[in-house]
Parts: sequence; C-alpha cells; structure tokens
Amino acid sequence: MSATVAEVNAVIERLWPLSGAEAWDAPGFLVGEPEASVTSIHLAVDAVAESIDEAIELGADLLLVHHPLLLRGVTTVAEDRYKGAMIGRLIRGGCALVAAHTNADVVERGTSGVLASLLGLTELAPIVSAADPQQGIGRVGVLDEPTSLGQLARRLAELLPLTATGVRVAGDYNQPVRRVALCGGAGDSLLSEPAVQGADVYITSDLRHHPASESRANSAIAGGPALVDVSHWASEWLWLETAAAQLREELPEVTVTVSELRTDPWDFAIVQ
Ligand SMILES: [Zn+2]
Repeated sequence: MSATVAEVNAVIERLWPLSGAEAWDAPGFLVGEPEASVTSIHLAVDAVAESIDEAIELGADLLLVHHPLLLRGVTTVAEDRYKGAMIGRLIRGGCALVAAHTNADVVERGTSGVLASLLGLTELAPIVSAADPQQGIGRVGVLDEPTSLGQLARRLAELLPLTATGVRVAGDYNQPVRRVALCGGAGDSLLSEPAVQGADVYITSDLRHHPASESRANSAIAGGPALVDVSHWASEWLWLETAAAQLREELPEVTVTVSELRTDPWDFAIVQ
C-alpha cells in the first residue's frame, strides 16, 4: 500500500495549513510528480546536499523539510549552483520535496510549541497570536518550579542536538527564571513584544549584536528578559520527531524517518 505525492501533500496541508504561513514565506509542494507513489517519507530541517543524498539513499519518495528551498526569486535551475543542483538531484532520485515552514511554526504542536513542551512549560500562549488564540508565532509559558538562568540553559543544552555554537546566555547565571518566552528559529523581531518583555528569559536563535545589546541595555533600565541564543537548526530539529509522529498517524502505510544529520552551518568554535 502506498499513497501518492498529491495525497501526502494534502495530509501535510491539513496538518500545517498554508493559510498559516507568513506573507513572505514560500512553503508547500516544491518538487515532484503529483501521481508518483510514496511508501516512505524522510524529514529534515534543510534541503541541502547531505539531507537530500540521505533521503535518496534511504529510498525516500518524499523529503519534507522545514526551510523552503525556493524562498526568493529563482531564474534558473541550471545545476552549476546550489538550488538547481538540489532540484536535479531530487528529480533524478525520484524524491519529491515539500516544505512546511512558518505554517508549521504557528500551529499548537509547531516548532515553538514542541520546544516549550520539552522544557516543561505550562499555561502556554503564543507571543503573537493568530486568529485562533492557541496558534501564533513563539510561545510564552511558566516553569512549574522556578530555576536559575544557568540551570535552564543547561537543561536546554541537554535537550538540543549538539552544535558547535552551543547555548549562549546574556544574564546572570544565578538569576531566577520562571516565565519563559521562546521562538524556534530566528526570533529577534519579537524582542519588543510585550509577552517577551514581560518574561524572565527569552530563548531564540540568530540574535545579532545590536538587537541583543539594545534589549539588554533597555532591560537594565526598564526591566526585561535575559537572553538565550541557541542554534537555529537545533531549535527547529526538535520539531521533526513530532511532525513524523503526526504523519505516521495520518499515513500508517507509509514509513516516516527523521534525519539526524547536523545541517547547522557552523562546524566548530574556539572557546577562548
Ligand atoms: Zn528556521
């Protein structure tokens, strides 16, 4: 028994409706033949050579990724550049490609929702709500027991897959934290949201110097969260297992596997 690419894509769109995607985003069905049959699906954060080769070697008929391969305008799929080369590999390997990006961030068990529940946060609410109050970007919640910023960062380091950059923290190791805001992936655009400003700590990725520095300087004057910066890839990789479980439930005849390849772009760091 198998499903078709179109049928799997319909399940993906039911689990992570495209209506939930941000206007700038380009998730959905990216490569493949709708009528081709699917007996196995592979999941990865990024559609890069390593994860595409892995999917094809495993015999996967469909690769579901978090990051859309064709986000900005593409005028060629010649294989002398990354995107054309990836599309060529997928087509020759008989593997379709579908992305669930911001449409998989907003749902209750999306990237931020999964990270929040793994940390044991309760009373969860989105940082920025969508029309459905359970849905939206980022999550804020509380820890049952207050802990220190340092202990929370250690817990995160244990939860997340290994990366070169680890977990970086702005704040005092011993300061108490209970209310936690977080956003899987790049979340510096949420720094000034009231739900983030009202939290003891904000966990996200890709925090650049100026937004982080200004947030800390403002916090020193007016109060605000400590900051925890984790690997973008790692924060979103945690979601894949939940997504795989949802797909297995919807498509019991299809084999679903999760890539354990580290596609974080950073390979090593020198700690001074
Ligand atoms: Zn991302």
